[in-house]
Amino acid sequence: MDQAPRQARVVVIGAGIQGNSMAYHLAKLGWKDIVLLDKGPLPNPGGSTGHASNFLFPVDHSKEMTKFTQDSILQYKELGVFTESGGIEVARTPERVEELKRRLASATSWGEPAELLTPSQVKELIPFINQDIVLGGFYSPGVGVVDSLRAGTLMREEGERLGALTVLANTEVTGIGVKNGRIGSVETSRGRIDTEVIVVACGVWSPRIARMAGASIPLTPAVHQMIDVGPVPILAGTVGEIGYPIIRDVDTNMYERQHGSEFEVGSYAHRPILVDPDKIPSMEEAALSPTELPFTREDFDPQMEQALELFPEILGDERVGIKYAINGLLSLTPDGMPLLGESPQVRGLWSVAAVWVKEAPGIGRTMAEWMTDGTPEIDPHASDIARFYGRATTRPTGSSTRPSNGSPIATSGSVPSTPGRRSSARCSSRPPAGSGPTGTSRTPGSSTSTATGSCPARLSGTGDGGPPSSTPSTWPCGSGSA
Ligand SMILES: Cc1cc2nc3c(=O)[nH]c(=O)nc-3n(C[C@H](O)[C@H](O)[C@H](O)COP(=O)(O)OP(=O)(O)OC[C@H]3O[C@@H](n4cnc5c(N)ncnc54)[C@H](O)[C@@H]3O)c2cc1C
Repeated sequence: MDQAPRQARVVVIGAGIQGNSMAYHLAKLGWKDIVLLDKGPLPNPGGSTGHASNFLFPVDHSKEMTKFTQDSILQYKELGVFTESGGIEVARTPERVEELKRRLASATSWGEPAELLTPSQVKELIPFINQDIVLGGFYSPGVGVVDSLRAGTLMREEGERLGALTVLANTEVTGIGVKNGRIGSVETSRGRIDTEVIVVACGVWSPRIARMAGASIPLTPAVHQMIDVGPVPILAGTVGEIGYPIIRDVDTNMYERQHGSEFEVGSYAHRPILVDPDKIPSMEEAALSPTELPFTREDFDPQMEQALELFPEILGDERVGIKYAINGLLSLTPDGMPLLGESPQVRGLWSVAAVWVKEAPGIGRTMAEWMTDGTPEIDPHASDIARFYGRATTRPTGSSTRPSNGSPIATSGSVPSTPGRRSSARCSSRPPAGSGPTGTSRTPGSSTSTATGSCPARLSGTGDGGPPSSTPSTWPCGSGSA
């Protein structure tokens, strides 16, 4: 086994789409001695990126999120991994029709082309949709799909070509050395790396990594269910990966997309299924991958009925079987926004967590600019990890409940966060002088103790996936091979 370098200017932990984007943009801005490592194999180390549906809708009511996604689409296009398909958000209720009008206002404000569609216009673009339950649509022509694993490979290759990047696969971070409130080193399965800057791009594992430094990255791994059915006879003639706009059925918190002759159905509407970061299985323990937990079919049943209402020709066809079904893991935060910036608790510990494929390259660029000179072009203030008061940075211990907007929250009982070196309510999170690529403030070889997690509480009353259930008789399409 190769040893890790003894020193690095910056260590990026996690080689999913976000870690690759970080290494790429830091290298492009002139940083040298970058080490990117992942505990899994490459190009698919087992994180959420490896099983994403990989579609991007650019328009959000948040200007910040829209800008991140618009920039990401440009970057994916430059890398040659983007396929434009267009996308439609459909309305089943009059209230949603009103919201789609506001969405058009947001799109116009943020400079993104879009238009409202009548039900028959929706049907023209998607001939297999049930027009009878659609009251209108919001069409976004810039929607598309990407190959996020290929994008990551191209980004790593560019960092290596610039002579700035060392990539270590199958290398696990086991501890972080902190001295006087600053990062000093990273302990890995290939030895210790002295560094003053760490970027945590570990997706659902990020809270574990932060705890190694005595800090908090307040996200919760949560299940998002997705199934893939096919082959679908009426899609047999579709050319290429995608030939029809992607559908977001926002009134039911679902999405559907054609994928070759197959059809994906994803749901955010099921009960909250939260998973403790410490209980995510290892690569060896997992049947598929650490972030593809066994499918719990009974949670998906009501959503399948709703998807059937919209696509009876596909999902009601008894010849169509289920090819793949997972309880996938993604990151949820207290307010739904990403967690970006230097930790308010430990200097030199940068979080790039709770990020989707759709905004990762834009966030990578923004973070690299922020780390280099403190002034990113896109203002990331709503995603600043320093935005929380203490309670939101603690680990929830009670049962879960669902608020009216459908997103899971944890309730009752919390433990105090690990005491930080600085207040989590600080106003500014700009980097210290000299933290850019030519910074000289490092303290090489400082001997530091490795902080370990100090919050014993666990999530309770939450599922961890569990075994697949038996096939219920209510499912419309064939039982396939899920
Ligand atoms: C079913 C499903 C469908 C989705 N579809 C979409 C979609 O269509 N569009 C979209 O934009 N988003 C989608 N998402 C969300 C998206 O997949 C994730 O938000 C995104 O991939 C996160 O990327 P990441 O790089 O932050 O994390 P990850 O891809 O999870 O990477 C984190 C990496 O950190 C590594 N790591 C963890 N701990 C350690 C350690 N101790 N030492 C070393 N390495 C470590 C892991 O091995 C992993 O490779 C979907 C999610 C799910 C579950």
